[in-house]
Amino acid sequence: MNFKEYIRVIEDFPQPGIRFKDITTLLQNGAAYKEAIDEIARFVKDKEIDLIAGPEARGFVVGAPLAYALGVGFVPIRKSGKLPGKTIEADYSLEYGKDKLAVHDNAIKPGQRVLIADDLLATGGTIKTCVNLIEQLGGEVVGSAFLIELTYLNGREQLPAGKDVFTLIQY
Ligand code: 5GP
Repeated sequence: MNFKEYIRVIEDFPQPGIRFKDITTLLQNGAAYKEAIDEIARFVKDKEIDLIAGPEARGFVVGAPLAYALGVGFVPIRKSGKLPGKTIEADYSLEYGKDKLAVHDNAIKPGQRVLIADDLLATGGTIKTCVNLIEQLGGEVVGSAFLIELTYLNGREQLPAGKDVFTLIQY
């Protein structure tokens, strides 16, 4: 399947000069959405993953169905102040902005093998912060999976060496 044809590019969102890759057009097509998740699941199924972790909000849209397909748990990584239990936090900077991400402090047990899932890899700032949080809890980051990679931003370099990075669509 040519997944790229289901992605809509929106000029100047959320700021002038940004060419936003809109995944909602892929999500609204049942066959494309299912095949996208199944394709990622095929790639990661032999990696002995215990948990999928995904940053809000679009990381949930990729990570939760992937966790379901693999029969493993899902750990939400959220903006500061959204999770109800005790959390740990880390700062991060986005392609356009700054924020803090948080995870429940008991969401991952030491030694658990975690795959990070999100919709898009840009500068890698988000994924780097997710790695930081998971490793603070003693989890082992197995790798990461995305629908889209903006290869010209070299976000892969933000991941520790030797980690698998799977992306379905590249720009
Ligand atoms: P990074 O931290 O790698 O620079 O940016 C990736 C994060 O920003 C992801 O969580 C992603 O949801 C969001 N993001 C940045 N640019 C885009 C875009 O063009 N399209 C979409 N769907 N998300 C984006």
